[in-house]
Amino acid sequence: MRLILVGPPGAGKGTQAVHLAAHFNIPHISTGDIFRANLKSGSELGLLARSYMDKGDLVPDSVTNEMVKDRLNQEDVANGFLLDGYPRNVLQAEVLRAILAEKQTPLDAVLELSIGDAEIISRISGRRTCRNCGTSFHVINEKPTVEGVCNKCGGELYQREDDKEDVVKRRLEVYAEQTRPIIAFYRGEGLLISIRAMGDVFEISQRSIAALSAVIS
Ligand code: AMP
Repeated sequence: MRLILVGPPGAGKGTQAVHLAAHFNIPHISTGDIFRANLKSGSELGLLARSYMDKGDLVPDSVTNEMVKDRLNQEDVANGFLLDGYPRNVLQAEVLRAILAEKQTPLDAVLELSIGDAEIISRISGRRTCRNCGTSFHVINEKPTVEGVCNKCGGELYQREDDKEDVVKRRLEVYAEQTRPIIAFYRGEGLLISIRAMGDVFEISQRSIAALSAVIS
């Protein structure tokens, strides 16, 4: 299964990605997570990415495309992958198509998670993320057992800098202007599956798995 997850910030891509990657036994590749790991370790890539991430802008394509190309050349993607947060614009989609064509491993599906604007704001403003393992929680919808502490690894939960209101507004603009066009791009390629990502997290996963399983069977 070679799969892309697409949707606005707050659609639940990270949460669904964990379920889908486990179900299909494929690595979950999140470009946002890779950038955040680099930010945490203070690498050159992290320093470069920070200036864009803090404003809610996209990291330049040349940097992001190279990073993804390297990741897709690693051994664990031989049986598939789930890309979360990439591609983020049509140019990245075209670069990805070329990378996969060269490897003769085309995409199987692009899963779009769609939600309304009001829901986006409520999800993002309540989101808390583990500083250590990156797992997301929500102050109302998906509370950790102990406030401020990650259920999975005991790490500290924090609000991502780019989940604060003014940055979220910019991220939504960037999504509408740059990322949304890839939905039409993939619809044109006959790869798009759209799922309404409202309601129970488990139920959304089940619907996604059923739709994706139909594609690869
Ligand atoms: P995410 O965790 O997917 O919301 O990504 C957080 C931030 O990382 C984004 O707002 C961008 O600044 C950067 N980023 C993640 N993926 C990409 C990408 N494919 N292209 C450019 N920037 C990205």
